[in-house]
Amino acid sequence: MTAPADLVPYAEALQEFEPVIGLETHVELGTASKMFCGCSTEFGAEPNTHTCPVCLGLPGALPVVNAAAIESTIRIGLALHCDIATWCRFARKNYFYPDMPKNFQTSQYDEPLCTDGYLDVQVNGETVRIPIERVHLEEDTGKSLHVGGATGRIHGASHSLVDFNRAGIPLVEIVTKPVTGTGAMPAEVAKAYVTELRDVLRGLGVSDVKMEQGSMRCDVNVSLNKPGEEWGTRSETKNVNSLRSVERAVRSEVERQAVVLRDGGRIVQETRHFHEDTGMSTSGRSKEEATDYRYFPEPDLVPIAPDPAWVASLKDALPEAPSVQRKRLIDRLGLSALDAEAMVNAGVLDLVLATVTEGAPAAEARNWWLGSLAQAANSRGVEASELPITPAAVARLVALVSAGDLTAGLAKQVVDGVLAGEGTPDEVVAARGLKVVKDSGALQAAVDAAIEADGDAAQKVRDGKVQAVGALVGAVMKATRGQADAAAARALILTTLGVTE
Ligand SMILES: [Zn+2]
Repeated sequence: MTAPADLVPYAEALQEFEPVIGLETHVELGTASKMFCGCSTEFGAEPNTHTCPVCLGLPGALPVVNAAAIESTIRIGLALHCDIATWCRFARKNYFYPDMPKNFQTSQYDEPLCTDGYLDVQVNGETVRIPIERVHLEEDTGKSLHVGGATGRIHGASHSLVDFNRAGIPLVEIVTKPVTGTGAMPAEVAKAYVTELRDVLRGLGVSDVKMEQGSMRCDVNVSLNKPGEEWGTRSETKNVNSLRSVERAVRSEVERQAVVLRDGGRIVQETRHFHEDTGMSTSGRSKEEATDYRYFPEPDLVPIAPDPAWVASLKDALPEAPSVQRKRLIDRLGLSALDAEAMVNAGVLDLVLATVTEGAPAAEARNWWLGSLAQAANSRGVEASELPITPAAVARLVALVSAGDLTAGLAKQVVDGVLAGEGTPDEVVAARGLKVVKDSGALQAAVDAAIEADGDAAQKVRDGKVQAVGALVGAVMKATRGQADAAAARALILTTLGVTE
């Protein structure tokens, strides 16, 4: 083990080494039925209730290809500017796993449905083109549940259960080519790519792309080499399940490999497991080569030969790309390119746009999402979109502030209440009694009390030391539990003391 003190910081590692990254993204398609049988794909059913002889791999059962899954995969390929095969086959990928009933996975090997595309992403004001190697179709495995241990892992478990409901759900794998030239920001590029890909897939409506439920997950490949030398040996961090973790997985792997290489060591080609809690990964198994899987064409399925006219019609019917849609909205709202990118990087652009759609002015929506809400997300270690507050609630807050019902300080307290699950902004305002004191009689009473309680400060103000008014304003705010408007309180104190500025 390397002591943490020996860690080479990310930025320093990237001055010494050049990173090469690669991303393999698995996406569960949102089809009604499975890839090769009619079983339902619905999430959360009783274990082993969505199964049949085909997806249980019983002898003699014959698969049939799901046409909707082929269509979705071709649409993904088209959205990523890929070439679509005019003829291709499925292949058997042979390996043993207890949650894979057939002992092989029906996948695609040397004849993928879509090849050679790209996706452009924005990072620090630059457009980075991520080359796509292939988009292919396969089936998901079942799911093992390890019971009786403290951690839910196989170690320490007394027995394991297997649920085949997920076995055979159509899975699309999107594989990038090696991405070079990311310089000082491979982690940022990786996160931007997965974010953009998720938005593209969501726009196509082919998957619910919920990373936390596993319907979209990434394997992250990283290698380092000295400038001018050959690419280094890569590691593959498996099943990275949030956007934030994609960035952390690249970052921690760059730092780990830099330590090994600097000490004259060699990187082992292996899969690694990412741990959400620590942001670090640990060594898994050494990586199989393609030959270990003994691929061969699937004899039980006919080849896929999409009609070029049909593919052309799918292409014509593609929705507008999220990047184009975003640009149009940004232009309409008059946001600067830098502002828009800051929002993309913080993962709040769509939230800002949704808040504007709910009626908030763009500047206000931006300030909330880039300010206290981004901070709240950061301190909780989640994406802003995962916070328990909706764009509609933020728009309501903005409206309450602009109507003068809440001050900026009170609005922050309301947000705290909403994030704590106390209800909508209006419910929090009512429950916590957080309304601006507009009643001039109540404010005058608080001002009089403050002047009486702090005669010294009052006298200083009368003598022309106007800055002493701060103590009195503070007393009024305290007496009204922050519900007075500070500027109004200040003005009223000065008037009461007969002072003009
Ligand atoms: Zn089935």
